[in-house]
Amino acid sequence: MIKAKGYAAQTPETDLAAWQFERREVGAHDVQLEILYCGVCHSDLHQIKNDWFPGVFPMVPGHEIVGRVVKVGDHVKGFKPGDTAGVGCMVDSCQVCENCKEGLENYCLEGNTQTYNNLDRSGIPTYGGYSNTIVVREEFVLHVSEKLSLAATAPLLCAGITTYSPLRYWKIGKGHKLAVLGLGGLGHMAVKFGVAFGAEVTVLSTSPSKAAAAKALGAHRFVVTSDKEQVKAAKHSFDFIIDTVSAEHDLNFYLRMLRTNGVHICVGVPPGQLSVHPFSLLGGRKSVAGSGIGGIKETQEMLDFCAEHNIVSDIELIDIKDITNAYARMEKGDVRYRFVIDMATL
Ligand code: NAP
Ligand code: ZN
Repeated sequence: MIKAKGYAAQTPETDLAAWQFERREVGAHDVQLEILYCGVCHSDLHQIKNDWFPGVFPMVPGHEIVGRVVKVGDHVKGFKPGDTAGVGCMVDSCQVCENCKEGLENYCLEGNTQTYNNLDRSGIPTYGGYSNTIVVREEFVLHVSEKLSLAATAPLLCAGITTYSPLRYWKIGKGHKLAVLGLGGLGHMAVKFGVAFGAEVTVLSTSPSKAAAAKALGAHRFVVTSDKEQVKAAKHSFDFIIDTVSAEHDLNFYLRMLRTNGVHICVGVPPGQLSVHPFSLLGGRKSVAGSGIGGIKETQEMLDFCAEHNIVSDIELIDIKDITNAYARMEKGDVRYRFVIDMATL
């Protein structure tokens, strides 16, 4: 076994703290990375708090991983020591179901193996990227360009692909009015991709203080959702809403802002259920849809697109010892727009 160190929550009630654990030896099809940077996703916080389901503890969160390859197994063809590489939210899937065969490992019919807070296919807990090293089968390791900042690339592995994938699926671009609901880690990437694909982008936000920053990200308009006049003016105006909100909210309120045939795409996963009144949908043939991360092929496509178009996340680089404070700030929506842990501080 390989000795590893990281930061773990021992229970849902305890803060993250230093923890030593073991990774499997590098198998014939595995790649071992030295982790350089790991983004901090709101999903990390949801999972530590058991917001969605009872978690696997101790929990080492982190699924926005960028690092350097230090060792590869005998059958690995695509990576060699020294390469920069990334790992996102998944580390395995069945590889044979109809979805996996189509490159939709994120929708594996047996369930993909999540990078942390999951058991791998042999029943061993998975541990994430708030750590110094990780061993992952080759098919789930991504190539990362050294052209861009590696730290600012890390959030692309979750926040990037989670917003890129639905925008591509619904072919959102020129001629579309896109609203991005919630300007956090996912939201700011949705703005960047929406603008890059040619859509007219409006940010719907609870935070008036983010208006100037939204424009700087490329958004064309900014609507403060507590301002009745602004909300009234936004009625019936969007073809798509991409909903990145991490807390409970009323979908019916936002559905009024969709045009006829508009689609409200949920990517945020608040604790509990969201409810929709049928009248909010049938008066305009509207849909509520969802999208979860993206497949491996599409994740590589997104990383290559970002390298070509100079797209990275706007980040605040933190020391791992400040992770508890970072979570507190993320809960208040006080992050511009992604914390990334500098793993050299571990
Ligand atoms: P984040 O950085 O904390 O951003 C969430 C944003 O939501 C906040 O910045 C805030 O934006 C807005 N917000 C917060 N509370 C709100 C409320 N009560 N009403 C309306 N808006 C509110 O979080 P994130 O990392 O982007 O993640 C967002 C959500 O996506 C989380 O639930 C996460 O678990 C989920 N997620 C899903 C996937 C997937 O595959 N579908 C992947 C990754 C993450 P404003 O200040 O602009 O209002
Ligand atoms: Zn995430």
